[in-house]
Amino acid sequence: MPAARRPGHVDSEFGFELQVCAWAERHWPPEGSDGRPVVVARQLGTGRRRWDTIVLVCDPEGLAARRAFGRRRLDSDLLHVVRHAPVEWAWYREALPDPGYPWRYVREAVNRAADRGVLERRKRSGRVEVRRVRPYPDWVERVVAIENKPDLDAAAARALGPQLRHDVALALADEVWAATAEAGERVEPALLEDIPVEAGILTVSPGERGTDAASVAWRPRTLAVEEPGTRILENPGGGRSDGRGSHDPSAARFEYADPDWKACKRLEIAERAYERGWRSYVDSMRPDCRYFELRPAPDVARPYCTAKGCHQTAGECAGSCPEFEPEPPAWRQGRWPVEGGPGAGIKRLLARQRSRRRPGTQ
Ligand code: SF4
Repeated sequence: MPAARRPGHVDSEFGFELQVCAWAERHWPPEGSDGRPVVVARQLGTGRRRWDTIVLVCDPEGLAARRAFGRRRLDSDLLHVVRHAPVEWAWYREALPDPGYPWRYVREAVNRAADRGVLERRKRSGRVEVRRVRPYPDWVERVVAIENKPDLDAAAARALGPQLRHDVALALADEVWAATAEAGERVEPALLEDIPVEAGILTVSPGERGTDAASVAWRPRTLAVEEPGTRILENPGGGRSDGRGSHDPSAARFEYADPDWKACKRLEIAERAYERGWRSYVDSMRPDCRYFELRPAPDVARPYCTAKGCHQTAGECAGSCPEFEPEPPAWRQGRWPVEGGPGAGIKRLLARQRSRRRPGTQ
C-alpha cells in the first residue's frame, strides 16, 4: 500500500530535486556558509553512475580565473591540451604528454581549443606549435554528490544503499549524501542501516518554509579522492540477498580505479556542471507546449502542466507526450519569430537566472 502523503509532501522526485538544487545554491554547506562559492548542477556523473545533484565547492580566485575560459565546458580532450600547454611555443607532440590515444585526436583538440581562443597555435616548418593563453586554474575544491529521495521509506533506503556503497567505494566525490524531505520527525534509525555510514543524510523542508530549511541527520565522512578507488561492477543483493541480513553467496566483481582517472573524471564532471548548472532542465522539456507553465516557488520556478494538472517530470514532458500541443501561432506574434513565443521566453528567463547565479560568470 502506498505510504500516506505527508504535510508539505513534494509531489515528484523531480520537483524535490529542483528544491534541493535551489537550497544548495543558497546555503551549502549545511552547517552554515563559509563564503566559498558553489556551482550546482543536476544529473551528471560517469557513464555508469549519474548523481541527482552535484555541488562544486570552489576556490573564489580559481573560479574567477575559470571564467576567462568561457562559459562552455572544456571536454576531456580540450582539458588535456589546455592544462598542459607550455608557456613558450613548442611542437604540440613534444609539449603535451602522451594522451594514450592517437595524436591526430590531440591535433583536432588543438584546433578546437585555438578556435575557441583558449590556446595559441601556429605553424613553423610544417609543425603545429602551441602556447598557452593563460594557466588553467585549480578551481574545484570539493565535489559533493547528492542522491535525492523525498520519501525515504524502507524500500527507498534499500534501493539507495547499493548506489551509495558504489559511490563510497569509488570515492570520486569528496562527500556523498542522501537528501530526503523532512517528515516532521527524525529519520528512522532502522532506515540508516541500509545506508553506508560514510554517506551523509540531509533532510530538506519543502512547503511553507520554502527551500530555506535543511538539517543534517547524519554527517558524511570525507572520502579519499586522491587514493585508488574500487568500482563495484556486480554486487549481488548489495551483499544481502533479501536486504534484511542474510548474505548472498554469489561473488562480487570489482575493478580498480586509479587516482589519475579519478582526477580527470572529477574535472570533466566539474566542467559539465559549470556549463549546465541546474536550470538547464527546461532544455530537455517542452516549454513550447501550450500546457507548459513555470510556476513560482521560493527561488525556483517549477514546471507545471495545465493539461495534467500537476508538476510534470522532465521524462514525461517530452516530444513523446501524448498531450503535447504546440503553443498557438497567435502567442508568437509581435516579436516572433525573432524572439519566439512564451516557450522561448521561458528558456531565456532560465538562461538569465542560470547566468546570474553561476558564481564567477557575472
Ligand atoms: S502536455 Fe505533455 S508536453 Fe505539454 S506541458 Fe504537459 S507534460 Fe509537457
